[in-house]
This record gives sequence, structure tokens and C-alpha cells, in this order.
Amino acid sequence: MAKLKIDITDLHKSFGSNEVLKGITTRFNEGDVVCIIGPSGSGKSTFLRTLNGLEEITSGTVIVDGYDLTNTKTNLNQVRQEVGMVFQQFNLFPNMTVLENITYAPLELKKMSKDEAHTKALDLLKKVGLSDKADAMPESLSGGQKQRVAIARALAMDPDLMLFDEPTSALDPEMVGDVLEVMQELAKEGMTMLIVTHEMGFARKVANRVIFTDGGEILEDNTPDQVFENPQHPRLKDFLNKVL
Ligand code: ADP
Ligand code: MG
Repeated sequence: MAKLKIDITDLHKSFGSNEVLKGITTRFNEGDVVCIIGPSGSGKSTFLRTLNGLEEITSGTVIVDGYDLTNTKTNLNQVRQEVGMVFQQFNLFPNMTVLENITYAPLELKKMSKDEAHTKALDLLKKVGLSDKADAMPESLSGGQKQRVAIARALAMDPDLMLFDEPTSALDPEMVGDVLEVMQELAKEGMTMLIVTHEMGFARKVANRVIFTDGGEILEDNTPDQVFENPQHPRLKDFLNKVL
């Protein structure tokens, strides 16, 4: 199979007259673990959402794993099967058990057999440290546990790329570590990951690249060491002074 590539050229996105992404050009390769940092409202979520077709693109091109997302003929459901996404607010199905949450898409979309989907879900629950929660309902879980289920659910589709939009921002501080640990493990296994986060320690330790966005543009794109030790753009320096 060809190596995963994500190619983004002059991506613009507007909501009405509000231009939120102002010409983003970048590329991600297989195995990249990229943290995206920047102030609130700078277009980070919108950017991630354009990569799996959750936001329509105003202009420019986005090619994810060979799928041209600007081509109206592209089957977005197929793209979404290959691109897993984890949200700040978990978005678990509240009326399904943990196991059902994880097996739903493989059963419905991949037509996986029930046995195979169950075995896989139990493996994934083990991986995220929740083997004992298969039959629990989401409402009985802590935020950190819900987020680990959400990660397991995304992984159940065997995605080539995982998008994380502030996966720990809604968690109580004592829950953050467990979720970051699962993500670090995934990164170690070679998963390609784009992570919007305010966890600077994690970005520094786990990412191979850190992108700083502000005002809908990429202002810096460099190794974690460079971004945190030797920031160039004044707005990045200012941002780091505020968050570190
Ligand atoms: P960030 O994730 O960096 O905080 P967002 O991508 O959520 O930024 O938002 C960037 C801008 O886009 C904000 O001004 C926000 O109000 C606007 N925006 C985001 N989603 C929508 C939407 N669905 N409709 C209209 N405006 C939106
Ligand atoms: Mg956001």
C-alpha cells in the first residue's frame, strides 16, 4: 500500500464573511505526530475538521490518503472510515454500552462479523486500560474513561490517521495523564496523529513537529525543540509566555 500522505495547498475556509483559514499549505507524512497549538479562535478545530470532510472547503486543495476532499465526487464516508477523530466532548452514544459504542461502526460500516468486532473491541479496551468497562454505560464513566473509550472507538475502524481536537481540555486534571499516556503509546506504535492541544509538555515530548497557528495561518512549523526553545514569530513568543 502507498504511504499515507496528506497534502494541503492554499486552503481557505470562510463562514459567511468570516475567513477562518487564510491560505494553509502544508504536508503530513505517515508516522508524523504533529501537535497544533495556538490561541482560541485561531481556526484549529476548523482546520482539523476540513481533513475528514466535516467542514466544506472554500478554496484550495486537501488530499488525504489519495482522496481529493475538494472533489464533490469523493465519497466522504470512505474518507471518514480511514480518518479517526476524537473530540473534546467525547461524543459517545449515550444509549449504548461501551462495547456497543466500539463495535457499532465496524459492524455497520465495515460489515465485520459480530465475533470479530467483539474480539477487537475487547483488545482495544485492554489497550486503553478499560477491560472491566465493556458492559458499562457511558454515563457511569469518568471523563478520562469516556475519552479512552472514544479513542478505542476510533481505533476500531483501523484508521490510517487519527485527529484529536483538544482531547484533554474537558477533563479534570487528574484524568489528563491517563489519556495522554494512551496517545503516547499510539504515537510509539507509529500511528499518524494530528493533535490540537494545550498540553505543551506532551507536545514537546511526543510530537515530531509542532505547528503554531494564529489568525487562520500557520506562523511557525518546526521541531518541538525549536518551537519551545527558539521560537521565531513574535506572536508565538507571546503565546508561549502566556501558556508556559
Ligand atoms: P479554535 O479551534 O482555534 O478555537 P475554531 O476553528 O473553532 O477555532 O474557530 C475559528 C473561528 O471560526 C471562530 O471565529 C469561530 O467563531 C468560527 N466558526 C467555527 N465554526 C463555525 C461555524 N460552524 N459557523 C460559523 N462560524 C464558525
Ligand atoms: Mg477548537
